[in-house]
Amino acid sequence: MTNARTGGDLISVVVPVFNEAEIIRTFHERTSMVLNGLNGMRHELIFIDDGSSDGSYEILRELARADASVRVLRFSRNFGHQIAITAGVDEARGDCVVVIDADLQDPPEVIVPMVEQWRDGFDVVYGVRSERDGETAMKLMTASIFYRLLGRITNVQIPANVGDFRLMSRRMVDQLKLLREKDRFVRGLVSWVGFRQTGVTYHRQARTAGVTKYPLGKMVKFAFDGITSFSTAPLKLATWMGYVAALLAVLYLLSVFVQRALGHTVEGWATIMVAMLFLGSVQLICLGILGEYLGRVFTEVKPRPMYVIQERVGQVDEARQES
Ligand code: UDP
Ligand code: MG
Repeated sequence: MTNARTGGDLISVVVPVFNEAEIIRTFHERTSMVLNGLNGMRHELIFIDDGSSDGSYEILRELARADASVRVLRFSRNFGHQIAITAGVDEARGDCVVVIDADLQDPPEVIVPMVEQWRDGFDVVYGVRSERDGETAMKLMTASIFYRLLGRITNVQIPANVGDFRLMSRRMVDQLKLLREKDRFVRGLVSWVGFRQTGVTYHRQARTAGVTKYPLGKMVKFAFDGITSFSTAPLKLATWMGYVAALLAVLYLLSVFVQRALGHTVEGWATIMVAMLFLGSVQLICLGILGEYLGRVFTEVKPRPMYVIQERVGQVDEARQES
């Protein structure tokens, strides 16, 4: 390990790729330019092909053959963005590790100020989006609600405008690698580890090509992972809903007595149906919440690896291995 943060340091750049054929070459070109401009630093680019089916892998393989700093891991199928990031970080050997999207929404030029902050002693330098082009108002609103909720019910504080674009120091990465949970919410895990963290502001661009690989369903799963990995508050929510439902039932019972005393005829079935439906739905919600946690316990208990690598291209930096 090099201790002095001067020349000779290795920076690893981890790039999850899922059907990004249209943009990979541009990404590689632009990012290499930035990395070559970093004073006295060597670099490695680690692409994780997360089961692409559009020829992304073939392009990556060519890149790796032409550029010795490129390494490619090909998953056996699509494992998801957070797992792809994890595999890349596991593979990285750098003194610092950057995680960046392949779609150029995170401008690689921002790596330069990130490295500066790292040299100043920060362990995590995350990208803070000052503006976000090409994102729907819906995405911005749900993100803001989600992170505020997460901050309230857990001790994981993540600003709404921070993604996975970040630089991490070696000691941060080593800690992160110890957290092997499978339903991963990487930015939460990084925040959980702690150390010295700071942000650099950047302007998030719209995608230059391709479409988002995060449809609504995946975003909901991601949000659930975020909350359930750091909080048991939803389990308590179930209890509270139970109390409220019970209280409402008692109030309703009283009102039935009053109606009776006043001589109103009670239209039995409609009211019973309402009460039944109400209780039924509260129970289903509670069961659902239990199910979410139980499902995650189930996932953790199975001793499966997090991902399966089908192929790899490119060599590990020899000089690095000796040190
Ligand atoms: N990605 C991935 N696996 C997936 C989905 C996405 O590796 O299952 C990659 C994708 O290629 C991109 C990054 O993760 O490099 C972020 O995805 P995307 O740009 O679609 O998300 P958004 O920016 O819309 O949140
Ligand atoms: Mg994107």
